[in-house]
Amino acid sequence: MDIKNVSITPEKCTNCMTCMLICSYIHTKSFNPSKSKIKIRPSYYKDNKLVPTEITFEECKKDCKTCLKYCVYGAIV
Ligand code: SF4
Ligand code: SF4
Repeated sequence: MDIKNVSITPEKCTNCMTCMLICSYIHTKSFNPSKSKIKIRPSYYKDNKLVPTEITFEECKKDCKTCLKYCVYGAIV
């Protein structure tokens, strides 16, 4: 599920994981990407074709938007 009022440009994502780490930290006080509500599935090649990066939000109540502030690449604004 994508959150409203957020522009997502997966092509700009460098898979730095900063958004996942800050989300997990503010909710669990630990740097654990598996606890993040924003999920990054990096791009990969399958059968010589590029499968692009996917950025999704799971169980995000979209009330803090902290991840947006920490994405310096403009992939989520
Ligand atoms: S969305 Fe932004 S902060 Fe998150 S992994 Fe991609 S570039 Fe990094
Ligand atoms: S808006 Fe807040 S809760 Fe939702 S994914 Fe971003 S940091 Fe996590």
